[in-house]
Amino acid sequence: MNLQLGRNYSVSAHCPDCGALTSFDQEQVPIIDGGHMYNGKNYMRVLYVFSQCARCGRGGLATVPDNGGAQSAVLEDFYPISIDAAPLPHALPPDIQAEFREGERCASFGASRAASALFRSVLEKTLMEVRLSMAFNTSAESWLNQQLQYDLWHAEKNRARLHVARLSAA
Ligand SMILES: [Zn+2]
Repeated sequence: MNLQLGRNYSVSAHCPDCGALTSFDQEQVPIIDGGHMYNGKNYMRVLYVFSQCARCGRGGLATVPDNGGAQSAVLEDFYPISIDAAPLPHALPPDIQAEFREGERCASFGASRAASALFRSVLEKTLMEVRLSMAFNTSAESWLNQQLQYDLWHAEKNRARLHVARLSAA
């Protein structure tokens, strides 16, 4: 979390889409509501500021109470939730990386159940990769090969399951 309210109601934050610390700049006329209380203080008004990431164009929404001008403005809330993209090992297979990034995006919207389901899946796949590399005594770099072995392992598992079903039916 590294949120900061800048000039003209812009917000500097880590963009979950481009992964960089950027500025979300005001895009449209904000929606303004009357008297507002935040952190035990009364403010004259509250602004809902629609903004866009200066780098990739992703939309953002800031809740900013103030007393009529930017000098008194404070940042109450901001979407997307600003998260730092976690560094991942280069040798990680692209499909696992993509799943992890999707989990991060879910987390940035507060969709924590979807995020944890994706992170769990990433963990299971990674553990399977490690088990396979140990079983086949391959180096950590041969991820592509291991993906094939992983798919094969799944196919074998499903075949075994089918076989059991057939036996019990007989
Ligand atoms: Zn961005």
